[in-house]
Amino acid sequence: MSAAYTRPQDRVPRILLIYTGGTIGMIEDSVSGALRPFDFSHLIDNVPKLEKLGYDIENISFEPPIDSSDMNPTRWKEIAQLIAERYNGYDGFVLLHGTDTMAYTASALSFMLEGLRKPVIITGSQLPIGEVRTDGEENLITAVQIAAATDTSGMPLVQEVAILFEDYLWRGNRATKMSADNFNAFKSNNFSPLAKIGLDIHFNPDALYRPAPGVPFSPRYNLDTGVMFVDLFPGLRISTLNHLLSTPGIKGIVMRTYGAGNAPTNDDFIDAIRSAVDNGLVIVNVTQCVNGGVNTRYEAGDKLASAGVTSGRDSTAEAAITKMMYLFGQGLSPEAVRYQFDLPLRGEIS
Ligand code: ASP
Repeated sequence: MSAAYTRPQDRVPRILLIYTGGTIGMIEDSVSGALRPFDFSHLIDNVPKLEKLGYDIENISFEPPIDSSDMNPTRWKEIAQLIAERYNGYDGFVLLHGTDTMAYTASALSFMLEGLRKPVIITGSQLPIGEVRTDGEENLITAVQIAAATDTSGMPLVQEVAILFEDYLWRGNRATKMSADNFNAFKSNNFSPLAKIGLDIHFNPDALYRPAPGVPFSPRYNLDTGVMFVDLFPGLRISTLNHLLSTPGIKGIVMRTYGAGNAPTNDDFIDAIRSAVDNGLVIVNVTQCVNGGVNTRYEAGDKLASAGVTSGRDSTAEAAITKMMYLFGQGLSPEAVRYQFDLPLRGEIS
């Protein structure tokens, strides 16, 4: 479906709930006391209020549900296929997912679901749904409401992959897990919230993504895992760096650098980078800072750029690594991957 989709206003919203696992549906193991994923009926039985919405909600569950630490590109493909195969039958999709890798999944799906014009809202919780003070019930209900939200002409308000958590809706490929503890666990450090949740859901129309007109919905399932992170720190040995840069099977590296994209300026470091790039490795520069991005204000950043390192601009690390998997997955050459990194494909960079 490439044209604008509108929901007939005389029928109730149809929402597909996809349960992958995560804390939201976990229960305490009676022996060890550790939290482990539990089945979907346990989760849904704890949210009787969902019925009050009066929507037509169907569900699909991972069997068995997983802790999101076990999420991987094969599961992303499964999720993308689930959505693609049912794309015309639902007004919106809600993905229940653990928080640990939620930002990676959101970023990956944003690239995979090219031309998406319906909401894919990802949520989870910090406390299991069965606990008295759970944040899961509210997150789930709000996510479903957002997945059903339309403007006055019946067009979905959200036409992208987004993360709903506590008080905010964030663009999926701009979000990062910021806290292992707070209910407001996610944030976009370089982008405005898509909506603020209060008494009402206050959408921010200027922030909401719209795919370019005429781009058909064409999911891409191939991801190339020949990628890795390299995190700089003072004291990183050149021998270690060279070892990392020559890792077998690696086509691309997302390098987490200092401040505005800075790295050591000594010849050994720069020569190692330059020769890796000359040998066809794509190296993308993202900052270790939680806020801001890469610019060449300093010689230390400039030298990296002259050695052939590509700027990841204000991308999150999660978006950069999944974008790299996606671009190499399309069979692109290193030059084409570098070129595409400079373009906002799904609103992931400013
Ligand atoms: N370990 C859990 C997971 O990511 C944490 C959570 O859901 O909050 O699946």
